[in-house]
Amino acid sequence: MIIYRVAVDAPLAALFDYLPPIDAADASPAPGSRLLVPFGHRQRVGILIEVREESAQPSDKLKAVERLLDPRPLLGPKDLALVRWAADYYQQPLGEAVFTALPARLRTSAPLLDEHEPGARATPLGCATALADLARAPKQRAVLALLQRAPAGLSLTKLGAQIGDCRAALRALREKGLIASCTLERREPAPQVTAPSPPPPYPLTDEQSEATASIQEAFGRFQAFLLDGVTGSGKTEVYIRLVQALIEQGRQALVLVPEIGLTPQLRERFSSRVSGPIAVLHSARSNTERERDWQLAARGEAGLLLGTRSAIFAPLPRLGLILVDEEHDPSLKQQEGFRYSARDLAVRRAQLTSCPVVLGTATPSLETLHNARANRYAWLRLRHRTGQARPPAISLLDIRRQPLRAGLSNVLRSHMRAEIDAGNQVLLFLNRRGYAPVFTCHSCGWVGGCRHCDARLTLHLRQKRLWCHHCDWSQPLPTRCPECQGLDLRMLGQGTERLEDELRPLFPDVSLARIDRDSTRRKGELTRLFDAARKGEIQILLGTQMLAKGHDFPGVTLVGILDLDQSLYASDFRAPERTAQLVIQVAGRAGRAERPGRVVLQTRHPEHPLLQSLLKDGYGGFAAQELDERRAAELPPFMHLALARADAADETLALDFLREARRLGERLDESRVQLLGPVPAPMERRAGRYRAQLLLQCASRPLLQRFLRHWTHALRQLPRRRGLRWSLDVDPQDM
Ligand code: ADP
Ligand code: ZN
Ligand code: ZN
Repeated sequence: MIIYRVAVDAPLAALFDYLPPIDAADASPAPGSRLLVPFGHRQRVGILIEVREESAQPSDKLKAVERLLDPRPLLGPKDLALVRWAADYYQQPLGEAVFTALPARLRTSAPLLDEHEPGARATPLGCATALADLARAPKQRAVLALLQRAPAGLSLTKLGAQIGDCRAALRALREKGLIASCTLERREPAPQVTAPSPPPPYPLTDEQSEATASIQEAFGRFQAFLLDGVTGSGKTEVYIRLVQALIEQGRQALVLVPEIGLTPQLRERFSSRVSGPIAVLHSARSNTERERDWQLAARGEAGLLLGTRSAIFAPLPRLGLILVDEEHDPSLKQQEGFRYSARDLAVRRAQLTSCPVVLGTATPSLETLHNARANRYAWLRLRHRTGQARPPAISLLDIRRQPLRAGLSNVLRSHMRAEIDAGNQVLLFLNRRGYAPVFTCHSCGWVGGCRHCDARLTLHLRQKRLWCHHCDWSQPLPTRCPECQGLDLRMLGQGTERLEDELRPLFPDVSLARIDRDSTRRKGELTRLFDAARKGEIQILLGTQMLAKGHDFPGVTLVGILDLDQSLYASDFRAPERTAQLVIQVAGRAGRAERPGRVVLQTRHPEHPLLQSLLKDGYGGFAAQELDERRAAELPPFMHLALARADAADETLALDFLREARRLGERLDESRVQLLGPVPAPMERRAGRYRAQLLLQCASRPLLQRFLRHWTHALRQLPRRRGLRWSLDVDPQDM
């Protein structure tokens, strides 16, 4: 007996057994193919996971597969192995996990875009019909004439190209029984001719050559590398050389980046230097574009796949190298649904593929640093900026008792003036968009809060609205206080909109641009602003962390960091790490060319240990110290965490559920796994739902894994509670 074990697109951990389709006994699909299967009273798309010889179900209870959807599997054995490993590790139903590996349209029963297209062919009757009979319908006659000469049929695109719009004619011919619809297989595209790579624009520095050589030496086997290089040290150049070398060996590279929208230059640099087609996968592209590129990668035609986190699952039959750029960036972690870390999966995938993986950054995450210090990862350092560029000097500016205008101290303002007069550019970093974070009544103390969250509303003056940054709810700006009808309404604090408005009168003759999510909503706007900034058309760039990521502005010689003080005292144990990374990343935007850069950090806490260690010992010194503290406090990476989250519109449901979850956990009787909580989430009410969380911690990863497996199994057996959602986050980033 042949049994197909199938994962269906549903949040179900189980696989389902089916018999082969009745009318296709000869076709034997390979695992990774899509199937249409009967499921309950409906049909569903499934993915064949395994073929077995027997089933635990009695055979008269088994249903047959409806039909096979693909001529060949969409996912290869190694791709499936990765998804299965991920589903297992993140305690995610395999049904859900395996479908995230596919482009949106292929999660349905739609045929493969490139391989099949709709067409028409002449029926025997149509072949026998004399064209003269259709003399009064010239379009129909033209269509039939073409189809009579093409016995295999023609695609609708080809017919359209030759005849123009002929849909009505096709319909009429079909009704007369002269033609029939058919599906045509698209011919394989001609093999790509790989042009030789253009010569490198400059020789590598010694550090770059050493790094490149070590990684190249590991081609063909598993080895993880930390490429720890200061901003501007030429990491990207190392990536490009490695990808070139790999492609010349006929293999494929996967390059993961946190956000492509913020790094359009990266794509340009690769495409101008790497030969052959490049596949690009990220959420800003259309479904069709993504599917085409996905297949370009899956068929092995693209030598390079450049993508954001979900590209980690894209099939690459000749994969030979994985590069993760900005590996410290939290957006490599999927934060909802199937919560996986693309960086951690990259290491796993390299292991499964027996190829090297390179984690590149100027500010390594403490997890990666820990692995490098323990020699699990080879640690490659690029300590120097290329060419003439010097590292920027960071200085603290104590703003206690200082008069501020537009949030800027006199000292910072005069530095700005000096740089602008010298023809240089200035970058101001303020990580808060909108006009002001607080809108309040001076008479009674009312503060604008979100109706659906435990959060304040941010004033957006351009739109004259109060906006919630957590659930996107907004309301028009009130002209009177809703509590006391008073008119003395005030805005407190400073966001980027306000900074922009207050800066203009201080620098009236200077061109200025604000870069944040609001100012770059229009498609192409971000690229336009970045281009203008690079060409030197903008003298003051101000914005949020969009300015901190991956983009260099060679003409910027002064970076002002305006308000970090809040994040110095945030409760999340990762806050110091994130803050330090942000400072170094923002600082790295400055002085990339011959001109040296300077970074001025305004603070009311100049004595703060984080700032002090960052200043004295740089990121490396800070990170070493922070790792010691994590060890002492028994926090990751010395402890492994999982976070169960629950939410419901009802005020107590989520907490009640997690209390029960805790009891189930205690019954597993594993004292080495600690359960902490449940407690309300840091922002308990969000988008109208009350949220709670339960933390699990354990010093051993395998032990925690085993515990989670039994525990989630038990949780899934609990009766469903209406309106309750829960999820498990393994290695949570935000808590
Ligand atoms: P990173 O990715 O580490 O920030 P990049 O690869 O973007 O650094 O390099 C920074 C700048 O230095 C780029 O403008 C790049 O063209 C240039 N560069 C890189 N390597 C060299 C080299 N060996 N010699 C001269 N310039 C280089
Ligand atoms: Zn009031
Ligand atoms: Zn809200």
